[in-house]
Amino acid sequence: MHPETYPTTGPAPTHATAPSMGMAALFYLHGRWVAACPVCGCQLASARSQRRAERTARRRRCPVCRA
Ligand SMILES: [Zn+2]
Repeated sequence: MHPETYPTTGPAPTHATAPSMGMAALFYLHGRWVAACPVCGCQLASARSQRRAERTARRRRCPVCRA
């Protein structure tokens, strides 16, 4: 379980719903989409749209398990 560094630039993966490392878990709470770390549940981002929350979370690293 070593933290790995992911390149911030690179070919964008095809948009799929299959879970993978780095894909945040999305929750719809109180009118906002909240993206959380799928491993520890730490909140990574929140936005009004699901896509925005997901994209924002994808750019961020989890401060807990991917620091
Ligand atoms: Zn985490």
